[in-house]
Amino acid sequence: MPIYEFGCPSCGILTTELYKMGENGELLTCGNCGHAGLTRQISGFASLGVSGGAGGGNCSPGCHGNCTGCH
Ligand SMILES: [Zn+2]
Repeated sequence: MPIYEFGCPSCGILTTELYKMGENGELLTCGNCGHAGLTRQISGFASLGVSGGAGGGNCSPGCHGNCTGCH
């Protein structure tokens, strides 16, 4: 089961939760400020984009995804 980060739109605190089917953070409550309704972060996609090298923006033309000597 994947783990996602949920961010509080009020105070910005990130909370790591196990992702349940259909879970989108609306039912989660911030442990810091008590704000109800957290926003799911796409950190998985973000890290994939950085290491993937495709369209990351700061990869050299010779980079094929492993970013060796790239950045
Ligand atoms: Zn909060």
